[in-house]
Amino acid sequence: MSAPEHDVVIVGAGFAGLYQLHHLRKLGLRVTLLEAGTGLGGIWYWNCYPGARVDSHVPLYEYSDEAIWRDWYWDERFPDWQALRRYFEHVDSVWGLRDGIRFETRVSAGTWHEDDRCWELRTDGGNVLRTRYVVLCTGFAAKAYVPDIPGLDGFGGEWSHTAHWPQGGVDLTGRDVAVIGTGASGVQVIQEAARVAEHVTVFQRTPIMALAMQQSRLTREDQDEAKAHYPEIFERRTQTNSGFAYPERGVNTFDVSEAERLETYERLWQEGGFAFWAGGYSDLLLDEKANRTAYDFWRSKVHERVQDPAVAEVLAPAEPPHPFGVKRPSLEQWYYDAFNQDNVELVDLRATPIEALTDTGVRTTAGEHPCDLLVLATGFDAVTGGLVSIDLRGTDGKTLRHHWARGVRTHLGLASHGFPNLVYLYGPQSPSGFCNGPTCAEVQGDWVVDLLAHLRDTGTTRIEATSEAEEEWRGMVHGIAEMTLFPRADSWYMGANIPGKPREMLNWPGGLQLYLAACREAAAAGYRGFELARGG
Ligand code: FAD
Repeated sequence: MSAPEHDVVIVGAGFAGLYQLHHLRKLGLRVTLLEAGTGLGGIWYWNCYPGARVDSHVPLYEYSDEAIWRDWYWDERFPDWQALRRYFEHVDSVWGLRDGIRFETRVSAGTWHEDDRCWELRTDGGNVLRTRYVVLCTGFAAKAYVPDIPGLDGFGGEWSHTAHWPQGGVDLTGRDVAVIGTGASGVQVIQEAARVAEHVTVFQRTPIMALAMQQSRLTREDQDEAKAHYPEIFERRTQTNSGFAYPERGVNTFDVSEAERLETYERLWQEGGFAFWAGGYSDLLLDEKANRTAYDFWRSKVHERVQDPAVAEVLAPAEPPHPFGVKRPSLEQWYYDAFNQDNVELVDLRATPIEALTDTGVRTTAGEHPCDLLVLATGFDAVTGGLVSIDLRGTDGKTLRHHWARGVRTHLGLASHGFPNLVYLYGPQSPSGFCNGPTCAEVQGDWVVDLLAHLRDTGTTRIEATSEAEEEWRGMVHGIAEMTLFPRADSWYMGANIPGKPREMLNWPGGLQLYLAACREAAAAGYRGFELARGG
């Protein structure tokens, strides 16, 4: 058995990967991080479309290390992608990470070598790296979804997916912009385009249930004062079920009077961010009648703002297209007001579907909508897409894509049978899509750091999830999901936005606390559900 030249190769330079690099180096391991982009920040490197900004407010959306936050100041409660990129540069200046990162290096394939107990990774530049362990920090949004719209190749204007936005930017001023998709990215780009474009056509299939962001400017003084409480806030976010710090009230919707409920809804609405979604009544995502009260409140907020009742009805119909909050809500600033402007037009794709793109625009069953810039805000082959795009071949030569072809199988949302010495963070069947990103990068990340320290200290050279553990975990994920309203929407949470993808709950729906308990119990029991082997 010949020792590989790396102990650990991390893939991805977002919150999760950088945290791993910093902490695994401290263990004295030989670690290299490979990143496809040319800069730090993960999704904030790729999603640089106009208006791109985070929906988790700061300080929740940052690392908890005081060495980083002590001298860092934000301008806004919900920072945009430029501010987040500056933040990651600051992280690098404190943690000193760059010398361990190879940029512009996409991992295209990996093969497990049983004899040497190592992975051989191949990059799209033709390089080969041999490593004992692989930590995939590729996030849940590494594969953009470009729908198969007839005529896209022949479209005469400019077009871009929001997650492949040109790094040099695209000026929307004076343009005829068409935006397909009204998910979180769509909302952001639409409200930005509405300010400067000559005309914006919004193609909506399913109405987004967007919440008021309640953006605010932050001064240095505000932040200096708040920093006294940061340690408590960061501690608190590890103790909630969503990785935020909203109090979990433990009260059900109909435990209170209608008047009290409406007052609570209004307060959560004014608080902004995800408070209305993650900080409300406990049965929101479990009980349809309870859920309907939240939907109706949300709908009334939209109808207050949109002047044309017919347009308001398309944006927020009387009958919900699905329960509230079972698709990821997004945050908006002036999205709904934009529909009162003459230069913004809403096209309901349920009534008039797209037939094709033409040389000059988008043709629906009702006619042509000219545009010279087409924005595909069509989301992602989320959670699994980026992982299975890498041609990973495990113990029996089969690929991860093959292993998951009939549904995802993982142990603790971290590892799969047949793929020894390989873990993924923020991945399928882990809290990922339901958990604040930096919280997950830290708490799940700590578990992996502890695991790798344990393997080193015990002379272990091979670890593999068992198939029994996978089946058990899968059963729990699906069992819990069935108790919720999540399966009621065709969402990316359920893999339902991608034609042909198995329809199943892709994230751990049991909350962060139950998840962490399961991870800690497994570790305490000598990594239950994994087979460990020494030697080599
Ligand atoms: P990412 O930030 O996704 O980083 C993954 C990195 O891996 C990328 O840099 C990518 O280039 C790299 N990579 C992928 N595949 C390869 C490969 N084969 N080879 C080499 N490199 C590779 N979460 C929240 O909590 N709150 C929010 O408000 C929020 N807003 C979001 C907005 C958008 C537009 C998107 C797409 C996601 C948002 N998220 C949000 C989720 C977000 O993914 C997490 O907050 C966080 O970025 C996860 O960090 P990560 O390090 O796990 O992954």
